[in-house]
Amino acid sequence: MLKKDIRSYSCEAIENFMVENGEKKFRGKQLYGWIVKGIQSFDEAINMPKSLKEKLEATFILDNIKIAKRVTSDKDRTTKYLYELQDGHIIEGVLMSYKHGYSICVSTQVGCKMGCTFCASAIGGIERNLTAGEIIGQLYTVEKDMGIKISNVVLMGSGEPLDNYEEVLQFLKLVNDPKGYNLGMRHITLSTCGIADKIKDLADENMQLTLAISLHCANDEERTALMPVNKKYNLTALMKACHYYTDVTNRRITFEYGLIAGVNDTEERAKELGKLIQGMLCHVNLIPINQVIERDYQPSKESSIAKFKKVLEGYGVTTTIRRELGSDINAACGQLRKNHLDD
Ligand code: SF4
Repeated sequence: MLKKDIRSYSCEAIENFMVENGEKKFRGKQLYGWIVKGIQSFDEAINMPKSLKEKLEATFILDNIKIAKRVTSDKDRTTKYLYELQDGHIIEGVLMSYKHGYSICVSTQVGCKMGCTFCASAIGGIERNLTAGEIIGQLYTVEKDMGIKISNVVLMGSGEPLDNYEEVLQFLKLVNDPKGYNLGMRHITLSTCGIADKIKDLADENMQLTLAISLHCANDEERTALMPVNKKYNLTALMKACHYYTDVTNRRITFEYGLIAGVNDTEERAKELGKLIQGMLCHVNLIPINQVIERDYQPSKESSIAKFKKVLEGYGVTTTIRRELGSDINAACGQLRKNHLDD
């Protein structure tokens, strides 16, 4: 039987566990402090009695993520991780090193059921949701491995965060907790393929994080062909949710647009996008996609990307071309895991 994941618990929940199990309440705060320090075994909590450590060991797992593989890019010092979970499932993540610090891209599910055609994570479907503890565990594991402190988190690895809403929300609370990991919401980006209902729920939480929408196409027919989620939440429903989000939070939305040569990188597509989001509190990231061999997609040429940007700017839309990171190490969503599972 799988043990409960202590890293998913808030300080209050651990205090309650202590009290319910005949221990002093302050032991909860003590243990939470150790978890935040990134300990990998209960033995490392040196000021706690042995009998309590044994009780914890029998009930909970602490070190819920083990590194199965690590590959660092020679080009740009991006490091790709494969992690093994308690039940043997494999997930992946990326650590990116910037001038302003370290940014980690975390997974929220084992695989993904959203079926985006440009994404290797979609190929095997979904196995299960990650717990909040398994999501934050990715941060602790990489920090320990590299001897660093992470300053930015992006929920953009395998899985659709809003399809695992409760655990992702708990993760956000844990990572933001001033008594805990204490990372400001402004340092967190959550990326979704466009689950409109949940975007509204997230707006109502009024967190100061950055919401990124993977848009990739601005007409329904072609977006549905690229991203089946568009059948359920078409562009009208998605845009309604996005407007609701900006109205409630007053936060700018980032639209991610992965450019695929000959598929969605034409001038006509740029005009459609410009018309769709003109006047919104938003920003567009144009991303030359990494090649996905299984899907036969190629990244757009530099000249097409520059033209696309110019058209958008003509509509008054702030647009950035994002550099492609880690293309030599399969850093795109799901690619390393997929290759590992195929081996
Ligand atoms: S792009 Fe994101 S939402 Fe789409 S299949 Fe891949 S992991 Fe899932």
